[in-house]
Parts: sequence; C-alpha cells; structure tokens
Amino acid sequence: MIRAAAEKTAQRIVQPRAAKIDAAGEFPWDLVEALGKQGYLSLLLPESYGGTDGDVTSFCIVVEEFAKVCGSSSLLILSQGLGTLPILLGGNPSQKDVYFTEISEKNRLAAFALREPEGELEPSSIKTMAEKEGNGYLINGRKGFVTHGGLAKFYSVFAATQPERGAEGISVFVVEEGTPGLLFGKKEEKIGMRGSVTADVIFEDCRIPQENRLGDEGEGWKIARDTMTMSRPVIGAQAVGIAQGALDFAVRYANERTQFGKPISSFQAIQFMISDMATHLEAARALVYKAASEIDGKRKDTEKLSAISKYFASEIAMKVTTDAVQILGGYGYMKEYPVERMMRDVKVTQIYEEANQIQRWVVAQELLKG
Ligand SMILES: Cc1cc2nc3c(=O)[nH]c(=O)nc-3n(C[C@H](O)[C@H](O)[C@H](O)COP(=O)(O)OP(=O)(O)OC[C@H]3O[C@@H](n4cnc5c(N)ncnc54)[C@H](O)[C@@H]3O)c2cc1C
Repeated sequence: MIRAAAEKTAQRIVQPRAAKIDAAGEFPWDLVEALGKQGYLSLLLPESYGGTDGDVTSFCIVVEEFAKVCGSSSLLILSQGLGTLPILLGGNPSQKDVYFTEISEKNRLAAFALREPEGELEPSSIKTMAEKEGNGYLINGRKGFVTHGGLAKFYSVFAATQPERGAEGISVFVVEEGTPGLLFGKKEEKIGMRGSVTADVIFEDCRIPQENRLGDEGEGWKIARDTMTMSRPVIGAQAVGIAQGALDFAVRYANERTQFGKPISSFQAIQFMISDMATHLEAARALVYKAASEIDGKRKDTEKLSAISKYFASEIAMKVTTDAVQILGGYGYMKEYPVERMMRDVKVTQIYEEANQIQRWVVAQELLKG
C-alpha cells in the first residue's frame, strides 16, 4: 500500500516537474506543501504527534519511489527524515511535542548538521563548540554542506560540550530558525540534486536554552551514529530508485531506437548490458531491504549491514546510470533525455553520509574487531 501510494504521488505530482526542477536549480517549495499534506515529510514521526509512524523499511520504499522520477524530490524526503531522527532518538516527550507537532501541522523542514569543514569522521574533528552559559548554551562554529541549510525551521546540531572527552564530549541540540547568531553560507552550486539546497550553517555566539539539548550531555555522538545507521539504507534505496528510473528509460529507448534496420534491443551487446543492470540492481535492492528489516527488527550490530547496503547500492547505481547513458548513445549525453540527470543525481549517494571508502572502513572495523 505504501509503495502504491508513493508511486502514484511521485508519478502524478513530481515526474512532470522533475526536468524543470533540475534545470532551474530551484528548491520546489510547492512540493513541500503537496508532499507535507500527504504525510511524506513526517514519515517517521509517531502518530501521536501527527506523523505516519513509519519505520526504516517504509522510509526506503517511499524514497525509492520518488527517486525513480526525481532525485531532488527524494532528497527532500530523505533529509527531512534525517533531520528528525535525532529528535526521535534523543528527544523527550515535551521536545517531541513542540518540534514534531510543528513539523506535521505546518510542514516545517528539518536539517541534520554534522559535517564540518575539517571533517566529521572523528569526534575530535568536531570544532563547533557549545559552552554552558547560565541556563543554556552558547554555540560557535560552522557546519558544512547542510541539506536544507537556510530553509529549515529546526536544525539538529552536533557540537562539542567537553572536547577532551572525545565521543562522550559531543552533544546534540535543536537550533531553531531565527535564533540570533544562526547564519547561513551561500547556496552551493552542485552538479546534481539541483533542486535541493545545500549550504553551510554558521553559529556566531548563538544562544539556545538548555531545553533544546536532545538527550544528556555527551550523548550526541551515539545519536549521530544511530541516526546514520538508520538512514544509510535509505540512501541505498534512493540510489536504487534513481538507477531503476534510468534502466526503465534505457529499456524503452532500446526498443525504439533502430540501427542496421533493427531495434538496438535486438543486439546481444545491449541485451547483456540490460540484463547485468537489472541483476545488479535487484541484488542492491535486496540488500537495502534486508538492512532496513534488520534495523526495524532491532537486531544487534546493524551498523555493518547498513554501511554495506549504502556502499553496494550506490556503487551499483552509479554504474547502472552510466550504462543507461551509454545505451542512449549521443542522446544519453543530451539534456533532452532524463538519464544524464539521473547519472548526475546519483553520484552523491556514493559521497554523502560519509563517502564509500569510509563505509568499507566501517565494515572492516566491525569484522576485524575480534
Ligand atoms: C549534496 C550534499 C548534501 C549533504 N548534506 C549534508 C547534511 O545534510 N548534513 C551533513 O552533516 N552533511 C551533509 N553533507 C556532507 C557529507 O556528508 C560529506 O561531504 C561526506 O561525508 C564526505 O565528507 P567530506 O566532504 O568532508 O569528504 P572527505 O572526508 O574529505 O573525503 C574526501 C575523500 O577522501 C576519502 N577519505 C577520507 N578519509 C579516508 C580514510 N580514512 N580512508 C580512506 N579514504 C578516506 C573519502 O572517501 C573521499 O573520497 C552533504 C554533502 C553533499 C555533497
């Protein structure tokens, strides 16, 4: 039911807009309203706060269906989930009441602010500081490449409260739009996902009350890791969705395009490419939904499978979209057809939430820890 509903909305509302969203490079505010009304921006929120009580599997399904037609729109849904996960994992009932009610009733956007210009892989690389000051905190620092930077109402911000304590010295706070000292960098010009806004988020003596801290002091790093364990399969689903859109288009094209007096789909070279694309894509999809179901089932040690699913799916999707461009020949390279957009959009799935080299490192660490 979830897949059928998401597919219908994606095909009806988003697909006709996808090429224009990419060409204009503008954030589609009208889609925020339309998708918010249907609950896609409050997918993970409990029903008691106006959400749809979705799990990681349903999150993957929805993102996959939107990604088939428009990477940027799927990123809108994905980033909203990513921004709300730290509140879901670390927030107390009154915080959830305030933030989630506003998100579900007013379609407010959320953002996840972890990465820093010097990196985000080690707790010691977090230079954004949150110093205790009276009944609250004073935040100073800079977060880089934040999706929904400058657009979101709520930012889940990871900052050092006791830098000397490493992972236990990181805490997470919700900083609300309009807080004095909350500033934004320029909108980044990207090669893909051009309908999504990416910008630095800057804190200059930004004061927030203690009530905005999620969980206890020192719990931020764990919340960040748990958030990414839940969201990496969703990036895998996004990659699978974009690649499926490209494969479907390439198959239609191969049946229509003639060379040597026959459709190019009659050539075995093209048939084998299509078979390999479909085979690899099915394997990636199976891995994504296996990771999602293990996380939903609250199995232990899901970080490894989560990393594997994102790594494998995004690598496969990059290859499938590139092969789709190849099947279209010269037209694949032209903006007139959607496969070049899909190839540009999918690239970032190999990079964000830690690049694939790091996913492999996560897997190796888990396997080798004895
Ligand atoms: C479109 C977009 C949206 C984003 N949205 C968000 C967001 O909403 N919130 C947020 O917090 N961040 C966001 N990011 C940031 C993103 O998560 C980071 O860019 C990503 O994790 C990579 O970090 P980096 O850019 O610092 O690259 P680096 O870590 O500098 O990596 C550069 C290269 O070095 C490799 N590398 C690094 N360390 C190692 C190592 N130990 N061993 C082997 N290879 C290594 C990497 O794999 C990569 O190939 C976004 C980025 C993009 C592009």
